[in-house]
Amino acid sequence: MKAELLYEGKAKKVYRAADEEGKLVLSYKNDATALNGKKKESFTGKGRLNNEISSLVFSYLKKKGIASHFIKKLNDKEQLVYETNIIPLEVVVRNMATGSITKRLGFTEKTPFQPPLVELFYKNDELDDPLINDDHALRLSDISQDELQVIKKDALMINTVLQEMFQTINLILVDFKLEFGRLPDGTIVLSDEISPDTCRLWDRHTQVKMDKDVFRQGIGDLLDVYEEILNRLEATS
Ligand code: UDP
Repeated sequence: MKAELLYEGKAKKVYRAADEEGKLVLSYKNDATALNGKKKESFTGKGRLNNEISSLVFSYLKKKGIASHFIKKLNDKEQLVYETNIIPLEVVVRNMATGSITKRLGFTEKTPFQPPLVELFYKNDELDDPLINDDHALRLSDISQDELQVIKKDALMINTVLQEMFQTINLILVDFKLEFGRLPDGTIVLSDEISPDTCRLWDRHTQVKMDKDVFRQGIGDLLDVYEEILNRLEATS
């Protein structure tokens, strides 16, 4: 199914799909990293959990009419996606203040953001993924002003759809990060992954953290928490 390794990131390996022009195989790793890779640990089973969860989330988005690079889950740890040229922006949507925005701008923890707040970060490990504004984004990528507005609008629409999805399994979507990529025909689509590595999810009743903050803050068992997310998602899909 897969041919040569194109790229290895912190959480995934990317291979060219054998005999399938324009398609890639994403292979989810067991590694968890935080603090831009300074904290790292491997958890047997994490790759499978994120692959399963991200596959369910992208399938749900597809049902709701949101285009993405996702084609299908191939096996436990791998999925088939369309090859895109990743736009080097991390688009973060926040429904509540926590994490970096509380430290950077002094928002009180759990301040609600309504309408939700959208932030752009430059995807660049050497620079520690700095927060940027629209003008920076236009100069640091090949997107146009119009495309940037569409990306931000899409991110907010995806937020609404995901909030609804997670609400049905008693999770609050606190914030999350999206990445977008360009297909060969120039269209921009949602790419990368959507999982507890990239979303903050709190239990609706207890507000217990059920995402990578468990690892970042050393406050629980990452595998147990991710398994619980998958179980809840499977129960409704
Ligand atoms: N996030 C991510 N990858 C990154 C940075 C952030 O997936 O490289 C996600 C993170 O899991 C959270 C949201 O984006 O759901 C906002 O993260 P924040 O800016 O608060 O950064 P952090 O506090 O995690 O450093």
